[in-house]
Amino acid sequence: PYEVLIVGGGPAGAAAAIYAARKGIRTGVVAERFGGQVNDTLEIANYPGVPETTGPQYAAQLEQHVRNYEVDIMNTQRVTGLVPAEQPGGLITVQLDNGGTLKSRSVVLATGARWRNVNVPGEQEYKTKGVAYCPHCDGPLFKGKDVAVIGGGNSGVEAAIDLAGLVKHVHVVEFMPELKADQVLVNKLHSLPNVTVHTNKQTTEIQGTDGKVSALDFKCRAKGTETTVPLEGVFVQIGLVPNTEFLGDTVKRSKFGEIEVDARGATNVPGVFAAGDCTTVPYKQIVVAAGAGSTAALSAFDYLIRNSAP
Ligand code: FAD
Repeated sequence: PYEVLIVGGGPAGAAAAIYAARKGIRTGVVAERFGGQVNDTLEIANYPGVPETTGPQYAAQLEQHVRNYEVDIMNTQRVTGLVPAEQPGGLITVQLDNGGTLKSRSVVLATGARWRNVNVPGEQEYKTKGVAYCPHCDGPLFKGKDVAVIGGGNSGVEAAIDLAGLVKHVHVVEFMPELKADQVLVNKLHSLPNVTVHTNKQTTEIQGTDGKVSALDFKCRAKGTETTVPLEGVFVQIGLVPNTEFLGDTVKRSKFGEIEVDARGATNVPGVFAAGDCTTVPYKQIVVAAGAGSTAALSAFDYLIRNSAP
């Protein structure tokens, strides 16, 4: 059995693996796709000490860094369930899609999250060519340009307020008749001179020219009228879904499906820790996930020295 088994090979899982392996304990990483979301990222420019890199390059470096240590990497393996130990210090079972099982004295869950898609023509085609999901990451690419934010909940309105300070004009497109964000955010949004709010509008298409986003189409749900707004960027902000469905009721999750963790990365299940975008941690960013991964691994080590057999 492993002493620490990490589920997920993104920044959180890789950091956890490096920290665990450096304690000299038997460490495994099981991941569906090593690297995680950064594989889908074009440019990364907000990781301290790495002024600029690309997603695929950073993903390859994460894997190389983990391979520098004695870590079993089980890539392209999907985890489908977790069975807690019978008593603290006992073996936790991790079930795999292929029918196999892995046993470990502690587990770090680092399965990340995925952005909900709006599923309109143009979204897939222009991903990273004007269609974006992370204002903290990609906002600066649209400096001085016109953009739209799809979604008028807290994340959409926060993104619009953030972008309004960088870009020329922001169009906020909300499906429902009213913005669903907190009132203080809505008031702030309405106070900004370079924001237009379109409520009760259904996004129908993201148009492109020469391989880049050039306009957004939406339809009024009350009158049926159609509008085309010329712009260069579309931020989709209709939710981030944690990859935690496989846990069922075994580990406590928030109403959004995020694994509930304390400041040490501990979950409600003894020996099971969690880190990164799959947890309740605020701000879903590489540096935040990597920090949380190291915290979870150190907490797992602390758990092991307190709960190991005499
Ligand atoms: P993830 O990166 O999501 O990794 C999750 C891992 O778990 C993967 O290996 C996945 O295959 C695996 N996994 C999931 N489910 C299972 C399962 N059931 N069984 C086995 N393995 C599983 N952040 C920044 O800081 N800067 C940026 O510039 C930036 N740009 C971004 C651009 C895009 C397009 C996207 C989508 C995100 C961007 N982010 C950026 C956010 C950043 O990528 C995430 O915050 C970060 O990757 C989270 O790391 P994580 O390890 O928690 O999860």
